[in-house]
Amino acid sequence: MSVNIYKFGGASVKDAAGFINVANIIAQRKDQKIGVVVSATGKTTNALEEVVNAYFQHRGNSKQLIDAIKQHHLNIVADLGISGEVIEEEFNDLFVEVDWILEDEVHDSYDYLYDQIVSIGELVSSKILYHLLKSKGVKTEWIDIRDVLITDENHREAKVKWDITLPKIKERVEVALVESDVVVTQGFIGSTTENNTTTLGREGSDYTAAILSYCIDAEGMHIWKDVPGVLTADPAMFENVTKIERLSYNEAIEMTYYGAKVIHPKTIKPLQNKNIPLYVRPFGDITSMGTRIGDSGEFTYPPIVVIEPNQCLVHISVKDFSFVAEQHISEIFRIISELRLKVNMMRNTAISFSLCLQNNPEKINQFKKSIGNEFSILVDENLELITIRHYSDEVLEQMKKGKLTLMEERLRDTVQIVVKEVPPIVRK
Ligand code: ADP
Ligand code: ASP
Ligand code: MG
Repeated sequence: MSVNIYKFGGASVKDAAGFINVANIIAQRKDQKIGVVVSATGKTTNALEEVVNAYFQHRGNSKQLIDAIKQHHLNIVADLGISGEVIEEEFNDLFVEVDWILEDEVHDSYDYLYDQIVSIGELVSSKILYHLLKSKGVKTEWIDIRDVLITDENHREAKVKWDITLPKIKERVEVALVESDVVVTQGFIGSTTENNTTTLGREGSDYTAAILSYCIDAEGMHIWKDVPGVLTADPAMFENVTKIERLSYNEAIEMTYYGAKVIHPKTIKPLQNKNIPLYVRPFGDITSMGTRIGDSGEFTYPPIVVIEPNQCLVHISVKDFSFVAEQHISEIFRIISELRLKVNMMRNTAISFSLCLQNNPEKINQFKKSIGNEFSILVDENLELITIRHYSDEVLEQMKKGKLTLMEERLRDTVQIVVKEVPPIVRK
């Protein structure tokens, strides 16, 4: 049986019109069986994070916030004309679980509670899509992904237990697609073997779709976005960007590793392992195949720019004026790994070691505390990391304009610069 996996992100289901568009895309499949992975609607995950923070910080308005989220989804259901007892009862069953948590004192860890609360976004949006497809006469089954996608207990960034997950997904999806043409399930969430809900990390729904594609040997995976495909830079930041028609898996891995937000970085590897093509397609134009990511060929690429905002440079030197040696670096990296910090760039000189990291002030402070006895540390904040793949000197100069370059590294294909915005001095 050949199956394609479709993934719809928050932007595609931000309101009733979005859901209708998505249902139309699914309804137009031709004799194909489709597995659909859906994210929470619009900015719902952010709104749910607010609920968790309000609860954890005893702000007293967490119930109000969750009720507003429920109402927002009921309004979408009403706008779609699919209201009724069944869907309302299903919503009540989902939201009551969150209500119970919020009524209780805080007993568990932040990360555990986060997963129990935030996961509702995907559960409720997938219910809406399921009922909408049924109302359109599409033979559809709703699957709770937590029955089949099993992870470790690392809440908020859970790792997939492939040996348990693979046979479970394969069987569940294949059985469902005998009777039905479409299965609808959730991105981003999973479950431990103890039946506790976990999440795979923000923006993780692309990755869920890749897990499903891998487990069922999908013919292709299609992620439907608010852009024409993978572009030479983020259109939210740059003018004159162009669509890249074809990308190799390796190029896509590099781009997403450096921070291109269009695809979650973990998405490509499972697809590459089974040679499953990935299409990044516009949900606004079903006739377009967008960008095809597949096995490597001799592609020629234009310069591709990736921006990581909110970076900091941490300069580390040894307090006793000795050289930074291997044992120091190994100790520094032990702590980095413990704090789960991602190193975006690094450089060592005889007496100092500099790291470019995502600026998470809380973690950077912990880092400083952990290594503070032996080392002195200086931190530069408010920086941007710019990566240019297949760079030309012209594009590099353009990117540096009006900025101070604090660190630069050139490889054959890639140049990376850490820069600080410097407003031009204007004569009074
Ligand atoms: P989803 O709705 O699936 O969550 P995202 O918002 O995560 O979609 O991803 C789509 C967004 O990615 C676009 O709106 C665009 O601003 C951003 N983006 C960043 N880099 C690129 C790029 N190189 N090509 C296309 N889009 C990009
Ligand atoms: N809803 C989750 C998020 O916003 C997962 C996703 O959309 O991919 O992070
Ligand atoms: Mg997203």
